[in-house]
Amino acid sequence: MLRCSRCGRTYPEAFRLTCECGGTLLVERPPETFTPEPFLDARRYLNHLPIENYVIPVPTITPVSEMEINGVKAIFKLEYLQPSGSFKDRGAWVTVSKLLEEGISEVVLDSSGNAALSLALYGLSAGIKVHTFVSYDTSPGKLSLLQQLGAVVHYVEGDRMTVHERTAEFSERSGITYVSHWLNPYFLEGTKTIAFEIYEQVGVPDWVLSPAGSGTLFLGLWKGFSELKATGEIEGLPRLVAVQASGYESLCGRSHARNALAEGIAIPEPPRLDEMKRVLRETDGLCVSINELETMGALNWLKRHGFLVEPTSAVVLSALWKLIEMGEIKRGERAVLPLTGSGLKLTQGI
Ligand SMILES: [Zn+2]
Repeated sequence: MLRCSRCGRTYPEAFRLTCECGGTLLVERPPETFTPEPFLDARRYLNHLPIENYVIPVPTITPVSEMEINGVKAIFKLEYLQPSGSFKDRGAWVTVSKLLEEGISEVVLDSSGNAALSLALYGLSAGIKVHTFVSYDTSPGKLSLLQQLGAVVHYVEGDRMTVHERTAEFSERSGITYVSHWLNPYFLEGTKTIAFEIYEQVGVPDWVLSPAGSGTLFLGLWKGFSELKATGEIEGLPRLVAVQASGYESLCGRSHARNALAEGIAIPEPPRLDEMKRVLRETDGLCVSINELETMGALNWLKRHGFLVEPTSAVVLSALWKLIEMGEIKRGERAVLPLTGSGLKLTQGI
């Protein structure tokens, strides 16, 4: 069933974005023993997902790459190697599978690029028409790919929050289903599989550092590890670090200067903010804010070490350096850093 995080009201497991009270929803199921299925892709976790059937393609199990950084074991998880080049494939796969089950054939979403691309790719194979609302500063590489995948692109003048509002208005006017990945509970069901994978690949690390704008990855990590704990598979959760872009912080104090490079997390008012705050408390987590210069420094380091990612992905490395320097993350500890999006979509220099 779906449960409202604000008033506790429950709904059957159909496609639904929010509670009638306006609160956000999470899928809730009785804890089930962690028994991965014998597949080499995301179908490993089918018995933990709220879908009966699934669409092809299927997100891959992404590799991990371990490196020692100032005495800390940094474990990079290469999410940018998913079929559409970002971790968003996990959420799009479960979402599109659910939409198909319900016979929904036309949807609209808003995105800075990666979520739309992912939904367009999975939607294309499922025969679902995808409208996407983007701001004019969306990277040309991503726009070109969206068009190649048959998505209908609607441009909006304004920032990310304005794009979100225009999309909701369009959906209301046209009756086309809004599948906002910020709100949609099925998206988080997909992103939670990254926690299952991390657990299978490296056990429970001391820390996981995640870019945190709308919280789709941050909350997915929490949900996945929480489910493992609820089944008795693990004893405790890793400490989760929410890494935010300066000028757009919702959890850390708001900075003055804006980090325009980390476009994927330039979301100052995420609808799941209360849940993100709860996760920080529950996991004894931390919030770290990263500015543009720090993002660029980490991006260059990643390139020099063979990780071709987009700027939003680099903030987790800046955060790791900072937390080591502050003495929060200590020598010998293990920290997982998901690298969320591919640099191959960036056709223009930054
Ligand atoms: Zn409610």
